[in-house]
Order: sequence, then C-alpha cells, then structure tokens
Amino acid sequence: MATWELRCKECEAAYPAEARYVCEHCFGPLEISYDFSGLDPAEARRKIQAGSPGIWRYADFLPFDGRPRDPLEPGLTPLVRADRLADRLGIGELWIKNDAANPTHSFKDRVVAVALAKARELGFETVACASTGNLANAVAAHAAAAGLDSYVFVPADLEEQKLLATGVYGTRLIGVRGTYDDVNRLCTELCETRPWAFVNVNLRPYYSQGSKTLAFETVEQLGWSLPDRVVCPIASGSLFTKVARGFDEWIDLGLVEGELPTFNGAQAAGCSPVATAFGEGWEVCKPQRPETIAKSLAIGNPADGVYALELARSTGGSIDAVSDDEIRDGIRLLAETTGIFTETAGGVTTAALAKLADRGEIDPAERVVVYITGEGLKTLDATREGFRMHEIEPTLEAFEGELEPALTR
Ligand SMILES: *Cc1c(COP(=O)(O)O)cnc(C)c1O
Ligand SMILES: [Zn+2]
Repeated sequence: MATWELRCKECEAAYPAEARYVCEHCFGPLEISYDFSGLDPAEARRKIQAGSPGIWRYADFLPFDGRPRDPLEPGLTPLVRADRLADRLGIGELWIKNDAANPTHSFKDRVVAVALAKARELGFETVACASTGNLANAVAAHAAAAGLDSYVFVPADLEEQKLLATGVYGTRLIGVRGTYDDVNRLCTELCETRPWAFVNVNLRPYYSQGSKTLAFETVEQLGWSLPDRVVCPIASGSLFTKVARGFDEWIDLGLVEGELPTFNGAQAAGCSPVATAFGEGWEVCKPQRPETIAKSLAIGNPADGVYALELARSTGGSIDAVSDDEIRDGIRLLAETTGIFTETAGGVTTAALAKLADRGEIDPAERVVVYITGEGLKTLDATREGFRMHEIEPTLEAFEGELEPALTR
C-alpha cells in the first residue's frame, strides 16, 4: 500500500489532506505526492488485474486508504485499433481510446468519481463545479447516484444537449452570463463562503488524480507496454499533464518498461492560449477570450497551461491549434473511418492528429494513442451541415427513379 500527502507543486510545503488547493507560502498549486516505496510491482499488478472493471482497480495509485464505494464507477473504456484511419493518414499503428464510453459519456466521469469519493470521505454534503459542459453532466449524475446535493455552474450559452444532460439528474443548474473563466472566478469566490466541495476548485488536487487512470488503462490494454506518442486535448491542461504523471508513476515503479511517450496537445484555434504560447516560445500563457465551437475546451486562462507547455517541450512534442472547420472535418473523419462519433473536443484531437501526420512528424514505426474524450450526441450542431437526408415518397419508383442513380453515381 502506498502512502500519500498533499504538497505544493512549487515549494513542496506539506498540508493536511483537506479540501485545499493553493499554497499559503508561494501560492503554487497543491497536488498529491505519493510514497510508493512499500509497493511491490508484481503484487500491484496482480491486484490490479483482480480488481473491479473500472478506475477503482487502480485505487492503490489514488489518494485513498482503501477502495471507495462508488455506485457509478467509470473507466476501462475501449482502446480500439484504428487501421482505416491509420491508412488514411499514413500512420503505422494507431489506437483510439474512446472515453465517450463512460457513464455520462466523457472522460470527466473519472475526475468526478475521485473528487466525489473524497468529498464524501471529508464529510461534505454538497458538491459543486464550474464547468464547460461535460463536468456539469458528470457532477450532476455522480451526485445523484451518491445522494449528495449539487450546484452546477456553466456559461449560459452552452450547447442545449449538455444542459439537458445535466438538468435531468435533478441538480441545481445555474447558467452564468459570461465565459467559463467568468464562471470559474465566481466559483472561486463562492468557495470561500460556502461549505461546498467544488470538484475542480478546492478539491482540484484530488480531482486531477482521476486523469491518471487513462494512462494506467492504456498501458494495461496495450499488454503492459507504452505508446510512443499520445495525442490529447487541452482545456485547463489537467488531463494532458496527469496522463503523463500516470505513465511516469508506473515507469518509476517498474510496472511498465520504457520512456514517457511524446506528448502532442490539441486546442481549438478560437481558444488556444497554450498552443499560441507553444508556437511563440513563451514560458507562460496569455489569457484569451474564447470563440469556438469546441466549448468543452474553451478555457481562456488555463490553470495548468505552463505545465502543459513544459511537458510538450520536454517530450519532443507540440501543441497544435485547429480551426472550427477543421474540427468539423475531424469529427467526420473519425466517424467515417472508425465508427466512433465524437463531440467537438474529439474533432479537435483528430484534426490535430491529421496535422501531425500531414507534417510528416509521425514515424511509421510509432505506436500512437489518441484520446477521444467526449460523445458526438452532445454537440449535434457541429455535424448538421456535414451531410443531407434524401426524402422520398414510400414507393419503389420514388427510390429507383431519380434518387438511386444519383446516389450511386
Ligand atoms: C474537460 C475536457 C477536456 C480536458 O480538460 P482539462 O481541463 O484540460 O483537463 C477534454 N475533453 C473534453 C471532452 C472535456 O470535457
Ligand atoms: Zn508553495
């Protein structure tokens, strides 16, 4: 069993394991630091394989002293070989990790499951979040399953599908007139005066740990080996950096052999503070005002932006930005070659993959894993213009007359 504590990422000051997220000394972010010295890799691997079919099989690598009770366990989503997409792009070995196959159809179920388990352990009765959409769905659903009260704050102009897939769980849904960054600022203020567990504010150090499970599953599903390259979307940069942390922990422990993969990040051009900083060679990200169809990635002032920059640079990767048209094309390309229908964030990721392939940056001998983080049914507007339905009378003549020749032409 590993032990863990809450520490400042910058100055390493230690804190009691409470709902807190900023260092009092240097204002750096707090994160979980583990001591795995008591862990035997062979035993750890046996325990994982005998564990539950979801993220709690990795409980020894999460900030709990046992396996939490979780009525809506996410994880163990499919990792599928994508040969048709690989052929289209001239890539040797390509895998899609389809995280739309989670209880509320995005990767956010992972982070919320961890944050809510911690909220219950710490005795909170009310949970809350500032969301770009998918987090709202996940917090509302997991709170309902756990019997906790919840408040969900979103930008009021969110996709209708995401609002409906939140309200249905009986949460208190608050649409804020402003950007996600405005919503986040409001929630940071509320956090000071309400006894609530904001999953991505005061519980952020725990929340972010959930993303490591995507790396653990990738290793397990690749037969306990590593990819050479990963392509992953970036909003706040938490997912991107914590996937790397997951690989790192298992490499350090000897659970898998090899090196950290090359990390390629993906952003929408209409909200690309990290991609812009990468391209310009800046150390920090300059905040932007989002204007893109990829609303789930629309964070103009990303909390983990600097760490995402560091990771892309230190692994020889990059961070790309793609236009809204490229996002729509990315959604269609993935659907037509893999049968997987993703939301705009997955369109961003697929379009960034296509860019890398176009630039000849992917060696044909590489094994590439692409993280598809959300479901296409949640952003239907992005596919509306992509095809048309052929409407006919219910007769053979109507089909065989003008239509069929036109269709097969
Ligand atoms: C939230 C989200 C991400 C990434 O979020 P980070 O803030 O970078 O961790 C990626 N894809 C989808 C669909 C999301 O909802
Ligand atoms: Zn500090």
